[in-house]
Amino acid sequence: MARICVVGGSLGGLFAANVLHRDGHDVTVLEKVRGSMNGRGAGIVSHDALEAALGRAGLQADASLGVAVPGRVMLRSDGSTDTLLDMPQVLTSWSRLYQLLLAAFPAERYLQGTSVTRVQEHPDGVTVHAERDGQAQQWQGDLVVASDGIRSVVRQQYFAQAQPRYAGYVAWRGVCEESVLSQHTLSTLFPRFGFCMTDTEQIIGYPVAGPGNDLTPGRRAYNFVWYRPVAAGDALARLMTDADGVHHPLGVPPNRVSWRHIAQARQDAQRLLAPQFAEVIEKTAQPFFQPIFDLQSDQLCAGRVAVMGDAAFVARPHIGMGVTKAAEDAVALADALQQHGATGGALQAYESARLQAGTMAVARARWLGGYMEQASNPAQAPGCASLGVAERAHQTLHETAIDLGRYGHLSAFQTPHA
Ligand SMILES: Cc1cc2nc3c(=O)[nH]c(=O)nc-3n(C[C@H](O)[C@H](O)[C@H](O)COP(=O)(O)OP(=O)(O)OC[C@H]3O[C@@H](n4cnc5c(N)ncnc54)[C@H](O)[C@@H]3O)c2cc1C
Repeated sequence: MARICVVGGSLGGLFAANVLHRDGHDVTVLEKVRGSMNGRGAGIVSHDALEAALGRAGLQADASLGVAVPGRVMLRSDGSTDTLLDMPQVLTSWSRLYQLLLAAFPAERYLQGTSVTRVQEHPDGVTVHAERDGQAQQWQGDLVVASDGIRSVVRQQYFAQAQPRYAGYVAWRGVCEESVLSQHTLSTLFPRFGFCMTDTEQIIGYPVAGPGNDLTPGRRAYNFVWYRPVAAGDALARLMTDADGVHHPLGVPPNRVSWRHIAQARQDAQRLLAPQFAEVIEKTAQPFFQPIFDLQSDQLCAGRVAVMGDAAFVARPHIGMGVTKAAEDAVALADALQQHGATGGALQAYESARLQAGTMAVARARWLGGYMEQASNPAQAPGCASLGVAERAHQTLHETAIDLGRYGHLSAFQTPHA
């Protein structure tokens, strides 16, 4: 049994904590945020590998996991149906997964309001330094698992060369109540995983549980992700500035997104998107956005420290697999510890198992988003030399629709290069 400190208590950290705790390790989670983290994320596409990882954490993925859909619908911009695909899938949510994973882990070992500042290794183990309630604190352990997200302090300490790179577009997101939508949208869009694109933009959406994880018809919600090119520099800085003129370079909190940007987005939706999606955006109480990044690592461990989840690799959301990838990292780490004990060798075995999967996920998602990157940054977009933006858009939407259901078979991905 090893003493393991998990840095970051979001979905990745909680997957690792649960799987390692279940394997008999003495696990403590240090999470920077204090208080409820519910409502942080929106919908999450599930894959077979996610359900398998829940099983490894001792949790059963039953019907309460999310909304089951029979397949996909692609809408043209006039609202007519372009394609229907039969692809049954369960669409879950960040809050449902968080609730499940948090309830399964000992509450006294989940320490919120604890911000890790650095890790120090010594011959017998590791010391994790943190701040809690303005006080410096320390935790001693055998291993550190860093699941502290895209701005990971642990990754920056150990692997500073790995830095997020802005993809040239943002994702507007939001959740609209089912009960406010028109019958037309409820019948032509809501029941399926929906897609619509323009030459330079793309929107996807799907039904999710309503407040309190309510799956009752009429009380569910519709989750959307709308990708829009925004050039780095002034245009992005303007978008990241709230209505009071405050610039938020690391992300605008959802309740601070400028009403002017929201009003503009709603107008653009009516002009560009299928009317069903425009209605969803119009009726979403608080749309917000996140800039999209790539993060690529070439190392996942050093000594007694491993990085996982978004701290290790961030793939654009076009394959809908960030949580699944973090869950698979957690399982691979636990398997390596079972095989090699709590040693640096175990962490190296984990790295060998996960480095290629992360690299492929980032490359594949870059390819799928390349046509939107091409719109704001033609020089850097991957694989665009031989195809125009519109051709890439068509090819990509169909590929995205398929990939969003098959992350469990990442080796089947082919990343074309122009
Ligand atoms: C638009 C969009 C759509 C997406 N859709 C999907 C989808 O459909 N399916 C899917 O699987 N994934 C999706 N993702 C990706 C997914 O949300 C992430 O990959 C996943 O949440 C990463 O989890 P994580 O635990 O690794 O990191 P995070 O969720 O970023 O968690 C990091 C945690 O570490 C904490 N932390 C940070 N610094 C410190 C510190 N110094 N000390 C202590 N704690 C710290 C943070 O507070 C946070 O709780 C999407 C992402 C985006 C942007």
